[in-house]
Amino acid sequence: MDQDFLIRKIEKYADEKGIPIMEKDGINFLCEFIKLNKIKNVLEIGSAIGYSAINMALVDQDITVTTIERDKDRYIEAVKNIKRLKLDSRITLILADALNFNTSEEYDLIFIDAAKSQYIKFFNKFSSNLKPRGYIVTDNINFHGLTNSDKSKMSRNLRQLITKLEKYIIFLNENKEFKTRFFEVGDGVAISRKRKNKNG
Ligand code: SAH
Ligand code: MG
Repeated sequence: MDQDFLIRKIEKYADEKGIPIMEKDGINFLCEFIKLNKIKNVLEIGSAIGYSAINMALVDQDITVTTIERDKDRYIEAVKNIKRLKLDSRITLILADALNFNTSEEYDLIFIDAAKSQYIKFFNKFSSNLKPRGYIVTDNINFHGLTNSDKSKMSRNLRQLITKLEKYIIFLNENKEFKTRFFEVGDGVAISRKRKNKNG
């Protein structure tokens, strides 16, 4: 079976099971970014069923991805998908809560796409695993257009989540060590880069 066919199958599976994989233009944007910036090793927080990890790995033959997932069923599905695409030598899957997972490895790019309420924690924890001029990319910044919108009609849970995301955006904007750009693509993507110095 060919690559495109297998990828369409993963998209269909995610759609049927309601698994929030990256939106089409979002993943295309991320892959283009990886290509343009010659990213070679990626750490991903939130694998789900391996869709974004697979797409990133397929950008170039010498790209490696380490990806963390805490949900056992999704992890198992991701393992299968990665095998089917014959990418198991370049994608390392880790079954763990990312907040309990420690590594001393350094990455060109860290992709945050897990629990939205923990984004600041993920950012702070893993920024020490970034190469000097590496990037942190965050997905779902707009959360279906709900960030910075009227919260009066939202459920309590949703309101709390949106408030956390809004705090994350403020955190990024106020972060002196990183410069962040926001892109209206997919569900909203932020790209943060470590500054060379205060003015960089
Ligand atoms: N990046 C994937 C989609 C990830 S969906 C893609 O685009 O293909 C978000 C995933 O993050 C969910 O599967 C969820 O189980 C996982 N997750 C949430 N919080 C996590 C945590 N603290 N550690 C590891 N995985 C987490
Ligand atoms: Mg996402």
